[in-house]
Amino acid sequence: MQSYAMLIDGRMVNTAEQDPVINPAFGEPFATCARATRAHVDEAVGAAARAYKTWRKDEALRRQKLQECATVLQAKANEIAQVLSQEQGKPVQQAMMEVFGASLWFSYFATLQIEPEVLQDDGTKKIQVLRKPLGVVAAITPWNFPVILLSWKLAPAFLAGNTVVAKPSPFTPLSTLLVAEALKDVLPAGVLNVLSGGNDLGAELTRHPDVRKISFTGSVATGKKVMLAAADDLKRVTLELGGNDPAIVLDDVDPDQVAESLFWGAFQNSGQVCAAIKRLYVPEKLHDGIVARLVERAKRTKVGNGLEPDTELGPINNEPQFKKVLSMVEDAKRSGGRIEVGGEPLPGKGYFLPPTIVTGVGEGVRLVDEEQFGTALPIVKYKHLSDALEQANRTNYGLGGSVWSADPKRAEEVAQELESGTVWVNQHIDLSPFQPFGGHKWSGIGVENGKWGYNEFTQVQVLDVKQA
Ligand code: NAD
Repeated sequence: MQSYAMLIDGRMVNTAEQDPVINPAFGEPFATCARATRAHVDEAVGAAARAYKTWRKDEALRRQKLQECATVLQAKANEIAQVLSQEQGKPVQQAMMEVFGASLWFSYFATLQIEPEVLQDDGTKKIQVLRKPLGVVAAITPWNFPVILLSWKLAPAFLAGNTVVAKPSPFTPLSTLLVAEALKDVLPAGVLNVLSGGNDLGAELTRHPDVRKISFTGSVATGKKVMLAAADDLKRVTLELGGNDPAIVLDDVDPDQVAESLFWGAFQNSGQVCAAIKRLYVPEKLHDGIVARLVERAKRTKVGNGLEPDTELGPINNEPQFKKVLSMVEDAKRSGGRIEVGGEPLPGKGYFLPPTIVTGVGEGVRLVDEEQFGTALPIVKYKHLSDALEQANRTNYGLGGSVWSADPKRAEEVAQELESGTVWVNQHIDLSPFQPFGGHKWSGIGVENGKWGYNEFTQVQVLDVKQA
């Protein structure tokens, strides 16, 4: 079995102790990776702290290196995508798109212009607001989009002058280690370090005294632990956490027009998207028509091994998550929910649940109240739009939400009633490097992307100069 090494201070470092990585299409390990010790954490943070001293001073070099990171990722996209597909489960074409997306994020930040804000400049005083880097950043990522979510952290962190110690999820460490190997030849030693290991490694990083900022993407439960760990040392945190996004269909839509987009809004990446449609609210009069079209789409979806060229949906990434989604479907059945399509895992050892649509459920059922993060979508019927809006907002989550209508102006007004970081009209999950992304309520603190995401990797310094 191939073994993958970590990046510390410009060198690939492997360990005697290895962790297996499972291909979820088969439920079997297919490779192993290094397991970082406490000493590796100290080495990596130490290397990042040393590299920071010079890296922070040369913005032109940083921009050039960001562009080179973009180029090298494109050159290695195929190799990284093959491994990403095997460890994560997603179709290999989507894995390629993910790596190209990461490259796009690097090139966007390579050229993002940040001007100091001048508050006063009148001959008596010049007062400017500058943005200074923070130092060593811990970048902790989840298993659903390991490569692109890493780039959301690395690119702005580097542009601002920080150095990074990154830690991928133990379910999907390999693509991140391959990214590290590719970027090693571009970045000065110590600017990027990548450690692999379990959840305890993440906890150790968040407690390390020389880490000044934690940029974390993952679940709400872990996000709360990260914030607690950061408090003692007043480390800065950005938390990009889970969601339970509602999509509300208004009564004027043509079901044929929206069904395909609703389907992929919910099931893309096998539903393992922080901002996927996780609850679909439809008006009574359109309920049956929309259900019928989604069921028809689900039935002709090719579910399978991500490396097969015609696969549209891969497995759920890991066994605990697979069991969680299955238990939520069972719970919905017990609560009177009707399985319109799917509902049963595929035979074999892979973690496959074909797209599952459940009707006849509402608040109080886990599939509606909690984040399922998998291939099961509850459809909730509503009579009055005000009820749908109230239900959509009656949650601790607030990542994304969408409203679907033949009248975009009307939809825009309704969308703004949703309590979430992003609201979409007639689409769901459309993200780009220049627009900020983050959650309201328990879905997060702070944002990523655009100049707002950049700012999160900086601290304000006021330069106040007396001139006369
Ligand atoms: P998770 O919280 O289990 O793990 C995320 C990362 O945190 C992993 O690298 C893990 O090893 C690490 N970790 C675990 N315990 C830790 C600790 N005590 N201290 C520090 N790090 C620790 O999340 P997951 O299951 O990998 O990811 C799925 C979740 O991520 C979903 O809730 C999803 O919605 C969310 N997510 C959010 C966004 C966003 O941008 N808001 C994007 C993708 C995923």
